[in-house]
Amino acid sequence: MKLRGSFISVVVACLAVFASSPRAQDLGSHFRKIKEGIYVQSAREVNSTSSIILTEEGVVIIDTGQTPMDSREVMEAVKKLTPLPVRLVINTEVHPDHTTGNFVFSPPALVVNHEGAFEAMRKAYDPERANTLATQSAGMRDAVQGYRLVAPHIEYRDKTTLRVGERTFELLHLKNVHSEADTAVWLPKERVLFSASVAIPNSINNIRPFVAIPDMLAAIKMMKSLNPEVVVPGHGSFGTTTIFDDSERYYGLLLERVGAMVREGRSLDQIKQELRMPEYKDWSYQERMPSNIEAAYRAVNRR
Ligand SMILES: [Zn+2]
Repeated sequence: MKLRGSFISVVVACLAVFASSPRAQDLGSHFRKIKEGIYVQSAREVNSTSSIILTEEGVVIIDTGQTPMDSREVMEAVKKLTPLPVRLVINTEVHPDHTTGNFVFSPPALVVNHEGAFEAMRKAYDPERANTLATQSAGMRDAVQGYRLVAPHIEYRDKTTLRVGERTFELLHLKNVHSEADTAVWLPKERVLFSASVAIPNSINNIRPFVAIPDMLAAIKMMKSLNPEVVVPGHGSFGTTTIFDDSERYYGLLLERVGAMVREGRSLDQIKQELRMPEYKDWSYQERMPSNIEAAYRAVNRR
């Protein structure tokens, strides 16, 4: 009897442990486990990533999903992982595919991003966005219920350190790399880096007119110098610093080719017509190439 009793208590204890830490596959096919208590969600390779970080004092979310359906999926996963509330949302940029879902977590969560994010999000706010999304599917119509703009409550300048429970989050501003306010999030103890949208695996990035390739390269260099073990980009699969190496090589080659054509006296329009990057023909979003050539042209002429 004694043996049986202790056997049952061991089984109960095992079940309790199992119930308190579900495996990533129990959260659904869109989730991957990065490290103990750190998960990332993305429904498709090109979509934005949304990450869940568990702490003893509650949950930190980094970006809130490609669409509100993703945001709801992340919230459901949080409920399976812990009874604790979401304390903090960190936005790595201002665009809707990273921030629309803020409303799902806040309140009670506070939202954080670099200075300029609040103003940029207020300016770009489209009150019709929820209605447009709702027409996509019945699931989306349900997911956008209660949608409203939630811009950052807290803005920092340059860098800041946040401590939640046993974890440390270093927020690092990435200047002129993608949106009006971009933040990398570095967990020094775990050696995990959330690298925002400066370098996207196997993808041509959309480079806006205020973005500068030299600033992108400086941000990439800074992030590589942290020597992260895991890199979680704003879009695409997580990996290692090879994500940065690939982007450095791509921009190096782009600057070299655009520079050579400028020296030959080609105009921007001619370069757009003639330049080829066959090494990267398999990368997604080839239609973004003109914005890349314009950015390289700006960089070359600034030298
Ligand atoms: Zn973006």
